[in-house]
Amino acid sequence: METLQRSPLLEVKGNIEVKRPLPKPPSRLPLSGSRLKRGPEQMEEALEPEKKRTRGLGTKIAPSRPRAALLTAVPQTQGQAAARTAPKKTGPRCPTAVATVLKNQKPGPAVPAQKPGTAAPPMVGGKKPSKRPAWDLKGQLCDRMAELKCCRERNQILDQENQQLRDQLREAQQQASTLGAERRTLEEELARVRVQAEQGQQELGRLSAQVLELEERLGTQEGLVQVLQREQLGLQEERRGLATRLEEQERRLQASEAALSDSQAEVASLRQEAAAQAVLLAEREDRLHGLEMERRRLHNQLQELKGNIRVFCRVRPVLPGEPTPNPGFLLFPGGPADPPTRLSLSRSDERRGTLSGAPAPPTRHDFSFDRVFPPGSRQDEVFEEIAMLVQSALDGYPVCIFAYGQTGSGKTFTMEGGPAGDPQVEGLIPRALRHLFSVAQELSGQGWTYSFVASYVEIYNETVRDLLATGTRKGQAGECEIRRAGPGSEELTVTNARYVPVSCEKEVQALLHLARQNRAVARTAQNERSSRSHSVFQLQISGEHAARGLQCIAPLSLVDLAGSERLDSGLALGPGERERLRETQSINSSLSTLGLVIMALSNKEPHVPYRNSKLTYLLQNSLGGSAKMLMFVNISPLEENVSESLNSLRFASKVNQCVIGTAQANKK
Ligand code: ADP
Ligand code: MG
Repeated sequence: METLQRSPLLEVKGNIEVKRPLPKPPSRLPLSGSRLKRGPEQMEEALEPEKKRTRGLGTKIAPSRPRAALLTAVPQTQGQAAARTAPKKTGPRCPTAVATVLKNQKPGPAVPAQKPGTAAPPMVGGKKPSKRPAWDLKGQLCDRMAELKCCRERNQILDQENQQLRDQLREAQQQASTLGAERRTLEEELARVRVQAEQGQQELGRLSAQVLELEERLGTQEGLVQVLQREQLGLQEERRGLATRLEEQERRLQASEAALSDSQAEVASLRQEAAAQAVLLAEREDRLHGLEMERRRLHNQLQELKGNIRVFCRVRPVLPGEPTPNPGFLLFPGGPADPPTRLSLSRSDERRGTLSGAPAPPTRHDFSFDRVFPPGSRQDEVFEEIAMLVQSALDGYPVCIFAYGQTGSGKTFTMEGGPAGDPQVEGLIPRALRHLFSVAQELSGQGWTYSFVASYVEIYNETVRDLLATGTRKGQAGECEIRRAGPGSEELTVTNARYVPVSCEKEVQALLHLARQNRAVARTAQNERSSRSHSVFQLQISGEHAARGLQCIAPLSLVDLAGSERLDSGLALGPGERERLRETQSINSSLSTLGLVIMALSNKEPHVPYRNSKLTYLLQNSLGGSAKMLMFVNISPLEENVSESLNSLRFASKVNQCVIGTAQANKK
């Protein structure tokens, strides 16, 4: 450290003192910071003592100065002293001595120069220098001359040296100024570098923060890269799979294309075939239509052969709590294989028995009908027999089905059915409608479209009441009138009655339920009115074959007639009975009118008394020559009802004997 801090000028001073060859001029390379800390002034100061010394030396060298003064500053060795002791032998010895002095001068800290006045007398090794004898003046002169010469030489050398030192000083000063400039430059540079370093530090801080951030991001990115790599792997796998599938699809596509071209050829041939088939189909349709018309014709023929007016007899079973009749009271003759058509009723005539005094044998009454249903017959068996007749209505033939018999014989059970909700005991009305809907559905395949409109009214004491009335009109009678649908029209409608379009079984069930409710309301007002009135369910059936411009319209009427029982004329007539009698007369009148109408029709009389009762008037379109009629005569199995049963059977037999002229389908 000490050496580093030494000024180059101090080194110069040292060089001067030791008389060593001058060092090379200091390098211009940048010096260490410690050197630069010294200013040029300080350097000047450092140089100052040297200058003084040099000047001082110059004074000492002056020839007027005593010799001792010259030697005091120079420490001498023994050798040097010895050299001085023999000046004669060596001749002019001074230059050598001076050179020796200068040579042996130790390098070290400069000894401050003493002022000439204060110098001690010259002492060499404690001995006085040897002197020439006083007489040897020449010798002394010679010494002095030699000494002078020596001094002059020395002076000369010192001058040279001085000159050199001045040169060196100048050089050093130049160097110092150069170095100062250089130092300033370097300081500026240093300041700049410091600023730069500071900026660098800041930059470094910023960059390291950035590096951290980037490292963090790198971490995230690496994670992402890993995820992406995994994803890439997955995708590559998927891609391979897809490529395989694509190949497969392409293969299949090629196969499909081949198949397609085959198919197209096939389609072309199929189209031709289809065109041919269409022609064939049209022909077949024509044939089918022809066949359908033929079926209708044959069906009608069959119905006619069975009779345009048919009578079925149905005997209801003995109900729980009713007395069991005699085994021979009601008989159904005929083999078990054939459907029964005959019925025998035995009646013992009590009056005849009393006249003869002995009980008369029972009288047997035989009846024959188109079909007889014994007590065990089920509802579906009964319907099966009338299904074909009902279907005639779809073919455009008016159809009318009556239930005739005394109260409690099973008319309502036959027409509407037993307790609601039990499909086993469903009556003819719901079964007929279900059958019509399903056949209409089948016929739709042949181009027929059917629509059905239902109405349900009751005729009591020659007044018409709507059984489908809803809301405030419920239970009101006398508002309805039977009128022609329009001027010149043969169609009849009941004013103020509801005509409800129906297309499914549920709708029919709802209507029957409503009718039952309406009857119940009326029953509270008048006792057992339902059995004293005719219930007429009518269905207007309209069929259309648009393609062939065909239409067929026909009514299907299902009539639950009022009880046919007669009133015992022998009974005393109270106010209630009188009313009852009027009711009965009205019923009897309408029922006998029905019989008369049927008779007039069968006898082809010019006048048919339809207008004699509301019932026949309402049903006139269902009873005419083109109509098909079926009458159920309902019989009670009880012996106590034998007389009413006989009356019913007789009435039915009369009807059964009627043959109404060939029915005509109501076609347009
Ligand atoms: P009507 O309407 O002729 O007055 P109903 O149809 O009301 O007679 O029948 C009277 C009773 O007999 C009812 O309770 C009915 O359920 C029952 N009945 C009628 N016919 C049958 C039958 N074929 N099977 C079972 N019960 C019947
Ligand atoms: Mg009834």
